[in-house]
Amino acid sequence: MNLLETSIEYLKGVGPKRAELLKKELRIFKYKGLLFHFPFRYVDRSKYYSVREINAEHSQVQIRGKIGKVEMLGKPRQKRLVAEFYDSTGSVDLVWFKGASYIKPTLKPDVEYVVFGKPNFFKNRFNIAHPEISVYEAENTHFSSKLQPVYSTTEKLSGYGLTSRGLEKLVRALLPQIIDIIPETLNQHVIQSNHLISRKEALRQIHLPTSSDLLQKALVRLKFEELFFLQLQILRTQLAHKAKFKGFVFENIGKHFNSFYKNNLPFELTGAQKRVLKEIRKDFGAGIQMNRLLQGDVGSGKTVVSLLCALMALDNGFQTALMAPTEILARQHFESLQTLLRGTKVRVGILTGSSKTAERKTVLTDLIQGELDIIIGTHALLEDRVQFKNIGLAIIDEQHRFGVAQRARLWKKSETPPHVLVMTATPIPRTLSMTLYGDLDVSVIDELPPGRKSIKTIHRSDSHRLRVFQFMKDEIAKKRQVYIVYPLIKESEKLDYKDLLDGYESISRAFPLPDYQVAIVHGKMKPADKEYEMQRFAKGEAHILVATTVIEVGVNVPNASVMIIESAERFGLSQLHQLRGRVGRGAEQSYCVLMTGHKLSAESKKRMEIMVRTNDGFEIAEEDLRLRGPGDLMGTQQSGILDLRVADLAKDQQILILARRAASELLSTDPNLKDAANAPILQEFKNLLRIKPNWSRIS
Ligand code: ADP
Ligand code: MG
Repeated sequence: MNLLETSIEYLKGVGPKRAELLKKELRIFKYKGLLFHFPFRYVDRSKYYSVREINAEHSQVQIRGKIGKVEMLGKPRQKRLVAEFYDSTGSVDLVWFKGASYIKPTLKPDVEYVVFGKPNFFKNRFNIAHPEISVYEAENTHFSSKLQPVYSTTEKLSGYGLTSRGLEKLVRALLPQIIDIIPETLNQHVIQSNHLISRKEALRQIHLPTSSDLLQKALVRLKFEELFFLQLQILRTQLAHKAKFKGFVFENIGKHFNSFYKNNLPFELTGAQKRVLKEIRKDFGAGIQMNRLLQGDVGSGKTVVSLLCALMALDNGFQTALMAPTEILARQHFESLQTLLRGTKVRVGILTGSSKTAERKTVLTDLIQGELDIIIGTHALLEDRVQFKNIGLAIIDEQHRFGVAQRARLWKKSETPPHVLVMTATPIPRTLSMTLYGDLDVSVIDELPPGRKSIKTIHRSDSHRLRVFQFMKDEIAKKRQVYIVYPLIKESEKLDYKDLLDGYESISRAFPLPDYQVAIVHGKMKPADKEYEMQRFAKGEAHILVATTVIEVGVNVPNASVMIIESAERFGLSQLHQLRGRVGRGAEQSYCVLMTGHKLSAESKKRMEIMVRTNDGFEIAEEDLRLRGPGDLMGTQQSGILDLRVADLAKDQQILILARRAASELLSTDPNLKDAANAPILQEFKNLLRIKPNWSRIS
């Protein structure tokens, strides 16, 4: 049997009772469980402080000195052992609340000790409770490394001696026994070309580093390995997918596309739009089903790109479905496509949850008979009764609101799956898109149409409200319109509605009829009322729209030039950026005002600063990832794909890029990992698949 699979009970120093606790508390069952229980930080034991240097900021200090007076203090039932500990600069108290009877006799005068622990300031004096204490040895052989590992543990385990130090002792007992049988999981080529240390050495160093340089190398090696296998899995899925699904070939650029381009296109395409169209054209010609993610900041002009793609499909005799996450958005797409297509023969239909029965019937018949070229809609398009004559392209706008399963349902509407173009205005940091959407190809529109004025963002606290109102009045006098957005968070929904309605009332009072019209939209209104209010604002009849985040995505009212975000500290960066993107769509200077309370947490303050500093969605997404970590972004926490042991997608971009490149190179030369040199990789790959069968299935 493989030694690594040995039950932890049999490790020297464990035994049945501790083994049971290790299983329960840390889910360590076998030798290998302990091997992969990595320290979460390290303490530099090479540094000694003098007593005088100790201050309240220190989380832990190491000092060297001798024991003075030792006494028991306190009331009978709350006795504590207090020992004076001094060096040439002063003294501190060492305090034990438990175990006094066996500690006391070990404390000897005239012996030089090393004490380690967290200093507390109490009654004008520093003390260290339950310190680690050991006899000082000149060579300090006690620590084979100066970087001491700190392991996570629990109170129960500590009670049985398995503190961080206790776990360290177990690891010290374990490593020599198993180090020589730890298998390598990468091939020599990957190891050498990426300057990695061996797996064996990495696992040794991560527990008991001999230098900080080697510790770094160990971390890099283990992160690389983790990301390498993740990418290998993703890329293999992608390859398999491509081999399995043939795609329609759109070879013609025909009259619809050309005549639209010549006669209807109201502007010159930006360089980025042209480049993306080229990338998509290439996919259309490849004979493989396209699965492409199109990222472009709000206002970057994704709509016209999607229309041009639909026209390519049409020129080759295929229909296109364009799916939006909300009714409002679907209507907006419908209207903007109709405007763009005016004077052409392209037939566009719309189908949403609120389509009238008769209307719906016509649309359904037209679709199946091929009387419609482009259908725009919401989730309603996924229903089984929606059948196409020949759908060739499915475009999904604002994708993170649609799940995998839903995408798959669109595919099933055709024998050969249609090409899929997923559009998102939420810029996704490269590391995340490589991982989360690793099986999608990615195109980016990274350029805004010319002539846009960048939005000015201002942070104001609630006490400036009257000045903000005046500013709104000035803008409205210039014939501009204003959004005011309130947070609506599930957990505090009731209070949030109250805030919204109170806000609406006070706005209505500050902006009274008949000079001002204030509209309101929120999720609890009937769809028809919502639509009515939305239209009032879209048509310019209402000056102000008070809303919840229902307007976050896609709404387009170019004349609105001011976005006021209430309780802005409660929104995440990406959401703030989305909201801000509702303005700045016309030629006028636009403004975004972030209203917050006066007292802000450091993180909220940081978020406001970032928003004020930059309009670049990608930069904001990177910052968001850094502040919140990948788990919180885009509801990815359930996916399990981001359960990374050592790597951190926010920080390890460079390693990720190298790991992906290595995985991709490997698959291009040995797609089935049949080569003898790649046997270790294949072995590990199979192991991991057994543990995490679903890890790449979320996009
Ligand atoms: P989004 O990427 O947010 O969906 P839209 O497609 O709604 O952006 O485009 C935003 C605005 O920019 C629209 O009014 C659109 O007509 C305009 N637009 C798009 N491309 C260009 C361009 N190349 N030049 C000028 N205006 C453009
Ligand atoms: Mg859009």
